[in-house]
Amino acid sequence: MAEGAREEKASSVDLGFVEETDSWRLLSRFFPSKVGGKPAWLALKSVPTACELDCGVCGKPTVFLLQVYSPRTDQTTCFHRTVFVFCCRNPPCHARNSATPFRVYRSQLPRQNDFYDFEPPDEDTPSSEAEVLQAEKEYNLCCVCGCGGAKACSRCHQVRYCSKEHQVLDWRAGHKAACGAEDGILPMARVQLLFPEFDLVTEPEEWEEGEGDGEDAGEDKEEKLREYEDYMRQLRHNQDRAGGSDLQEKDLEAAARQETEEDQQFSVFRRRVRKEPEQVLRYDLGGAPLWVSRQHIPTAEDIPDCTCGAPRQLEFQVMPQLLNYLQVDSLKDSIDWGTLAVYTCVNSCEQGTAYHPEFLWKQDYSETALTGAP
Ligand SMILES: [Zn+2]
Ligand SMILES: [Zn+2]
Ligand SMILES: [Zn+2]
Ligand SMILES: [Zn+2]
Repeated sequence: MAEGAREEKASSVDLGFVEETDSWRLLSRFFPSKVGGKPAWLALKSVPTACELDCGVCGKPTVFLLQVYSPRTDQTTCFHRTVFVFCCRNPPCHARNSATPFRVYRSQLPRQNDFYDFEPPDEDTPSSEAEVLQAEKEYNLCCVCGCGGAKACSRCHQVRYCSKEHQVLDWRAGHKAACGAEDGILPMARVQLLFPEFDLVTEPEEWEEGEGDGEDAGEDKEEKLREYEDYMRQLRHNQDRAGGSDLQEKDLEAAARQETEEDQQFSVFRRRVRKEPEQVLRYDLGGAPLWVSRQHIPTAEDIPDCTCGAPRQLEFQVMPQLLNYLQVDSLKDSIDWGTLAVYTCVNSCEQGTAYHPEFLWKQDYSETALTGAP
């Protein structure tokens, strides 16, 4: 059937967009996909602690970036399933093409489990702040970042912390005054550490192979000009690297060829994204990422197998558009990426209530890669 042939070419990608919502709708019992704020843990036992969430560069606790609720209908163990991504808040930790300041965990549960009703939650009952605090207390979560809180405040024993760092932050931010308060409920920590919180909603991408191919002719002048300037900057930089005026003709040709290929890849990326420019996530289980560059693309060996022995496959990629919502644009020194590709176990292997580490690959834009090269 002709329809089948068309389906093959149509996109298998679900796009993710951020939306404002009431924060109580983003609590664990609603199984949200979300950006920022505290993680809405799926399994409420064995929640990752500070040492499982430390930045591979500075060693301090990473901060929750986003989570994607992605059950797998083919496995009863994955009736509920969520993948969590964490990221260091410290800009100098974010080196070019390096995933070291990121952490990824997968959690999954059967429909019958210790934490949630068998039936879907009642979407119309708001939760109160007191209820949230109670839950944090019950599951021993850090009141600053929402991760496993191994330590309690030694004076009031009312709040828990994942680490000394977060205890110090909270003390300065107001716990000093609130510690030992009689009413038993302490105000929420006001530490400016978490990313702004959003709902993450998905919808299928409308795209067919070949779409947008001829569109470059109609591009506005400004974009063309910017591309040209980028091109010239790269060329100048390559000339500098090649030793100024002593450029060999073959070097120049090789550089030009490389740039043309690079332009093409970025052009593919841009054309695909332009139709839905606000997309912050592309969910495509078992698919291929939409790379922003031809450089620093992982080979099969670059993606480690799961500890169960099965290979990992792409699950989703985080787009650079998300940065616009994170309030990280402090002039130069800032958290940045071209794309973050998240790979998970093809079998989504069973780990009980444990949080299972998964793999992230970071790719930056090539133009900055060139200017940043030694
Ligand atoms: Zn760090
Ligand atoms: Zn913490
Ligand atoms: Zn205290
Ligand atoms: Zn596995």
